[in-house]
Amino acid sequence: MEERERRIGRNEALFREVNERIERVSGALQTGTDSMTILCECGNESCVERIEVSVSDYERIRKDPKLFFVHSGHAKPEVETVVEEHEGYDVVRKNSGPAADMARELDPRSD
Ligand SMILES: [Zn+2]
Repeated sequence: MEERERRIGRNEALFREVNERIERVSGALQTGTDSMTILCECGNESCVERIEVSVSDYERIRKDPKLFFVHSGHAKPEVETVVEEHEGYDVVRKNSGPAADMARELDPRSD
């Protein structure tokens, strides 16, 4: 069980890493574009869903290493709680446990 949770946490952190790169490459912040397309950050490695988010929402959520973007319905209730529902996607917060520890450890914005 713990190993499964760690795997989910690791996958989600990997997708977050990719999305951070998408944000930088798209240069959304500099060009003033107000939305960007990111990958679903659910822990399922075969998930290929994309999510359209506003740059301001992306930045706001990304400040908290325990928050992730998932396509509507992709939340995993055993490791996370839906804290916001938006058109096409939900924001989830990791429950404390292995997945949350992994999310913090792998946060690309922490030192
Ligand atoms: Zn997904």
